[in-house]
Amino acid sequence: MTVNFSEDEIVHYVNQASSFIQNQREIYYESASSLSAVEINQFDPFFGHAILKRTRFFQKGDGVIKIPDFVIDLRKRGVNFPWDGMGATTFIDVVVAYKELDMRTKFHELVHAVQYEKFGLKQFADKYIRSLLTTGSYNSIPLEINAYSLDKDYSSNLDKPFSVELEVQQLINENKF
Ligand SMILES: [Zn+2]
Repeated sequence: MTVNFSEDEIVHYVNQASSFIQNQREIYYESASSLSAVEINQFDPFFGHAILKRTRFFQKGDGVIKIPDFVIDLRKRGVNFPWDGMGATTFIDVVVAYKELDMRTKFHELVHAVQYEKFGLKQFADKYIRSLLTTGSYNSIPLEINAYSLDKDYSSNLDKPFSVELEVQQLINENKF
């Protein structure tokens, strides 16, 4: 399926997405809590200490967040964006989980927290939505490909530390997002 969005439409959806992200972040921030000391220890070889302390997790017991209208809109236009099957979503520095998350998924969401930190909300949303709308598929969003690739490296060898911050920065320098 071909998808075709004008620049105005892209900007419209980027704005919708960033207000949605900001709202969800405000809704869940207070009830979310930091990683445990044990988890922080396990992730320490991969992340800066500040992001591990700052990022909060919230276990949502009553299912996935209601799908926003703009995502329904996009689906009608042929954009493939999964919703109900998701395990978690990261809203800036708050991860909302819809099931018990394993360490690999927490790692994945923390990569998104690093990306948000590097880009800021507006630019993160722009890069995320722009790639989604130009490729038509969640699986081709470079910010996701980066997070999946790093969570795979992490889970395939827990004893081989690397810096997520440097990995993300390198792709930024190469203009890969
Ligand atoms: Zn992701």
